[in-house]
Amino acid sequence: MSKPIYPEINSNEEVEQIANAVSSNSEQEEKLLGRDQEKSITIEDRAKKKGKFPLVVKLTILMAFLFVSVIVVSLVINKHISQDTSTISMPPSFEKSVILISIDAFRWDYANYCQTPNLDLIKSQISSDGFRPPFPSKTFVSHYTMVTGLYPEYNGIVANTFFDPIINKTFVMGTNESLESYWWLGEPIWVTNELQGYKTGCYFWPGSEAKIQDFRPTYYEIYNQSVPYQDRVQKVLDWIDLPQSERPNLITLYFENVDTEGHLHGPLSPEVISAVEYDDTIIGTLIDGLKERDIFDKINLIVVSDHGMATISTSQVIFLDDYLNISTKSIPQEYSYNKFHDLNLNLIQNSLNLEDFQDTEYDATIIDWSPITAILPSVGKEDFVYNALHNVHPNYTVYRKEETPLDLHYNDSVRITPIIGIAALGWSVTTHPQFSAHPDWFQGGNHGFNPFLYPEMTGIFMAHGPAFVDKYNQPVFDNLNLYILLCNILGLNPAPNNATESVIESLLKN
Ligand SMILES: [Zn+2]
Repeated sequence: MSKPIYPEINSNEEVEQIANAVSSNSEQEEKLLGRDQEKSITIEDRAKKKGKFPLVVKLTILMAFLFVSVIVVSLVINKHISQDTSTISMPPSFEKSVILISIDAFRWDYANYCQTPNLDLIKSQISSDGFRPPFPSKTFVSHYTMVTGLYPEYNGIVANTFFDPIINKTFVMGTNESLESYWWLGEPIWVTNELQGYKTGCYFWPGSEAKIQDFRPTYYEIYNQSVPYQDRVQKVLDWIDLPQSERPNLITLYFENVDTEGHLHGPLSPEVISAVEYDDTIIGTLIDGLKERDIFDKINLIVVSDHGMATISTSQVIFLDDYLNISTKSIPQEYSYNKFHDLNLNLIQNSLNLEDFQDTEYDATIIDWSPITAILPSVGKEDFVYNALHNVHPNYTVYRKEETPLDLHYNDSVRITPIIGIAALGWSVTTHPQFSAHPDWFQGGNHGFNPFLYPEMTGIFMAHGPAFVDKYNQPVFDNLNLYILLCNILGLNPAPNNATESVIESLLKN
């Protein structure tokens, strides 16, 4: 795995103080790689398991001759060729291709309350009791976890808004700055795919616009929520219609309307039900397009969501300024409502830097607010801040970073703040002035809550196609396993990951 490119680290004492308080990114990578040596399953392992290893070797040698010119070109132009690229690309077949659709914030149970004949058709083959997001259950965090197979602490996207004390910059989703390579760690599935000789088409997916390990998907679109959904589907069909040598074997598609309505009106509101039913008709047009081309039963279709949604209310609000003197740099100026519709109080107007945390006039700076609070204490005030928040509100739990519950997998990154506050389901975190100015921000719905405690945070997984067994219902499973599932279907050698292959074995034919 290539190292993220960091700007030169400021060597002053204060920087070291913050940076040393947590493990370095390079340590993270080493730990990850160590872990992955145990977990990563290679093509050879899979082949041995199936008892077909000699045949694979013969085929590989044969293909090596046939495609020697392609390999030579690849060696010249691909500086990442030193990475394990034991798979030699063949022109993609539909049977080993995937269309991956994400409907943002489609809660696991929504379809029970809606008319969704097209989704019903897909899940008549593979359904699931739920697709569990990582912690925190936020859009960028969850989408990037799905495509890397890595916990957020290792893939770098630890929240929709976070501060990196080494880079000395703040990530805010949807900004141009957020597309810089250094934020995106690990290897998303489209990079794995392109590295091994295939093409990917992304009609939106968090991270797909960023250059990661020097790669972008062969085909991708700049996020624009105003693009009509029919146009998105038509582009997918256009990609399907490309000559075989140009055709992507992996296509992503993204719809945000269910999330938008869920935030504004709450889960299971009439607006959410309409949005779900609209998306079902859109997926119906995709299915019709595939049927017209006689490939609906030949290509693999996977529909997922990144998280669920819970009702929030103005009567369930935790005011941090009751307990702390919070830096004025923390006060959100506006929603980051411009991108992927994740209602998130953030720092768009306030670009932070390390000097801000030296100011002991304040107790702490809040990097991310609700329902998971990323709290950066001012220098020397960590104990004070922890004690000021510990056990002060029955619906708010604070942890020191090193004490977060193990199942959250949320401590091994410099981007996770020294103190984390976690609101109970349905609660919001803010300040009195903020609440008075924007009470409407605290009603409707939200997500981000602990997905291991609250099934309301669980999303959907359903699938249809030749790679899958005939009829199967998968118990609730962690969505980071999507990466290894895609590698299996696409015939890719996976990058180091945290997935558990046995979890997805029951879904696949072989
Ligand atoms: Zn959202």
